Parts: sequence; structure tokens; C-alpha cells
Amino acid sequence: NAPLSEVDPEIADVLERELDRQRGFLEMIASENFVPVSVLQSQGSVLTNKYAEGYPGRRYYGGCEVVDVAEELAIERAKALFGAGFANVQPHSGASANAAVLHAIARPGDTLLGLSLDHGGHLTHGMKINFSGRLYNIVAYGVDAETSLVDMDEVRRLAIEHKPKVIIAGWSAYPRQLDFAAFRAIADEVGALLWVDMAHFAGLVAAGLHPSPIPHAHVVSTTVHKTIGGPRSGLILSNDADIAKKINTAVFPGQQGGPLMHVIAAKATAFKLAMTPEFKERQERTLRGAAILADRLTQDDVKNAGIAVRSGGTDVHLVLVDLREAAIDGKQAEDLLHEIRITVNRNAVPNDPRPPMVTSGLRIGTPALATRGFGDAEFTEVADVIALALLPGADLEPLRARVAKLADGFPLYPGLQQ
Ligand code: PLP
Repeated sequence: NAPLSEVDPEIADVLERELDRQRGFLEMIASENFVPVSVLQSQGSVLTNKYAEGYPGRRYYGGCEVVDVAEELAIERAKALFGAGFANVQPHSGASANAAVLHAIARPGDTLLGLSLDHGGHLTHGMKINFSGRLYNIVAYGVDAETSLVDMDEVRRLAIEHKPKVIIAGWSAYPRQLDFAAFRAIADEVGALLWVDMAHFAGLVAAGLHPSPIPHAHVVSTTVHKTIGGPRSGLILSNDADIAKKINTAVFPGQQGGPLMHVIAAKATAFKLAMTPEFKERQERTLRGAAILADRLTQDDVKNAGIAVRSGGTDVHLVLVDLREAAIDGKQAEDLLHEIRITVNRNAVPNDPRPPMVTSGLRIGTPALATRGFGDAEFTEVADVIALALLPGADLEPLRARVAKLADGFPLYPGLQQ
């Protein structure tokens, strides 16, 4: 039981360097966040040792009486947080949650209607070489070329034409709220089930700052690690008792074996924290930060450089930057911001003329910086730094100094050692 630094100095070095990196950079990848130390504790705990196939009170292994408490707490808290009658907290990740949802409500060969990947959908919503694209017949809707918004008339037209078994509402890169009631009306009209994947905006929903899909969808899936800021993992919710039963079977034994009890315990803590006023206040800062960023990136100096904000703004925790008319592409912009120690990811724009490894866009999110403590003043400062960095011929040195000042002002995990 020697410490990691003795057993495996190379990996100990990775942990230490990654903590340094997270402290020194400004994290603006929209899907990332910083878990609280309480969540790190569960994830690094002895609960990782326990096999617990099955569900609380109905396990296929002995000795589950203690971990059962963790899973029951996670389930009850998830239900209370989102106002759902059913929760399955076992999915290892968002992708595994989505695989289980499809396993439960569709059969291979069935038609699914979802947002296409290059318009902001997720791999698991029907990308060609993902399991979803291989097992199911995929029909994709897109966003309007002018407005960058999902066109509900197109969704309805495609639904009537293709009669999908499942309609998927949800996204990985979309700056606005979806109309869940309108999606449900279309699903009812064509006899489809509505599945909402709220992986990105679940924290906003939990805080009551974004419409909830729960009253409208037959089933809702999410990750726990993006806006919620919990452990890397998935969650499935439903108010339909019949679907709930199928979800439980689909997760175990349908998709997974033993659940990760250390992660489930950490989920329970994350859901508890998500019910606090501090969580709501953090989500408010997240939203204001994104709005401040969108506002700065639509000022004349940026506009004149051919840089645009898709849909002209944001209602959520991220901004999508369109670089099709700019001097730099997505990859160059990502690298440039990395040079001044801001981490973002390049992102395809609809009908992107450049290949996926280059792209003509950026996705920039505010959840991690809000968790770090940023408020309006800091978001205004970082937005200005990003805007100036993206302009042709930017002088990066002073911008790097401004980033360092922001990072130093908001120490991450003070006192923590890896
Ligand atoms: N669903 C959506 C909408 C996502 O954006 C993501 C992650 O990017 C996932 C599912 C998958 O989550 P994970 O990376 O945990 O598998």
C-alpha cells in the first residue's frame, strides 16, 4: 500500500501536471466542469472495490447492504431534483445512458429522427459509425442556414414523412432552448416516443433556469459532469412506469455489468449540492457569462474580422463562433487561445466547408469558470481577451498576462495535492 508517487511515479507526475494545467488555464470547453472535493473523495474511495450487479435490494452479489444506501440516495435525490417518478443512476457515461435508452425503446432497424451531428447533435443520436447509426435507420433534421435554429416545421415534415419510432431532442452544440412541448406534439401526431438528451443543459434545468423536458418527454437522459458539475457519468429519468421498467432492464443486464458504486455515491453528492441556493447562483453566473461573451463577440471589431456568433447570441451556457468568413479556421483559433492559456474546442458549423479535424467554428462555454468563481466582471474580462485574441495580428503577450491574472485570482482546489 505504498503511495502512488512510489508505486508509479510516471502516473503520479501526470496527476500533478494535470492539476497544474487545470489551475493555470481558463477552462472554457462547454462540456467540462470542476467537481467539488467531496465528489473527488467518493470517486477515489473503497467503493470502487464493490461488485453490485442488480439494483438496491435485488443484487446478484452479497455484501451490498452498504452500497445500496448510496444508490438509493442517488435515485431519490435525482428524482427530487428533476421532478421525475423514476431514475436509473447506473449508466457509466452519457453514451452508455443513451445506448440503454435506445435498447429500451427501439429495436434495431427502427427509424430515429434526431439532430444531425454536424448541426450540433451528438454521436449517439445517429452518427454513421456510432452504434446508433449502425443499428438504427437514421433520419436527421438540421438547423436553418440563416437563423441557426432548429426549424420545427422541418422536424414535423420529416416526422410525418418517415414515421420514426423515436424522436430525439437534445444537442451538444446549440446555443438556444428547444421547444419540448412542440417536439411532444409532433411525436404524438406520428405515434413516436420523445427522448430528450439534456446532457448539456441539465444543470440549468436543475436550477430552474431552463425549461424542463421531464413533463414532455417519454424518457430523458443526461450526463452528470457537464453543467451539473458532478462525476463523469450518466443518468436516465422517466415518468412512464412501463418505460422505466424497460430502462432498468436495458441498463442491467442489457448494456452494463457491475455499476460503478464509487461514481454512484459521487452522483448522490452532486445531486444534493444541485438542490442548494449556491448551485442556482452558480448556474445564473454561468448563463450571464455566456451572454456577456456573446455580446462581446458581436461587437464591431470582431464582426469586421468576419467572425460571427451563431444565432446572434445564446440562451444557455455556451456560444458558437462562426469563422467561415474569418482569416482563421477552427483549429487555428483553438490553438491560438491555447497559446494564451484558454481552453476551448473547435466545432463544425452546419455545412462546414472544412474537414472535422479543422472545422470553421469554436464552441466556448462558461460552466467551469462559473464553478471557479467567475462573475460578470471576470467574464467581461475573459470575453474581451478572447475577442482581441481572435482579431488578425493580435499581440498575444499582454493577453496571456490578463489570463494569468484571472487564473491567479481564482485558485482552483486550494491546498489540494495530487
Ligand atoms: N449526449 C450529449 C448531448 C452529449 O453532449 C454528450 C457528451 O458530449 C453525451 C451524450 C455523451 O456523454 P459521455 O461523453 O459521458 O459518453
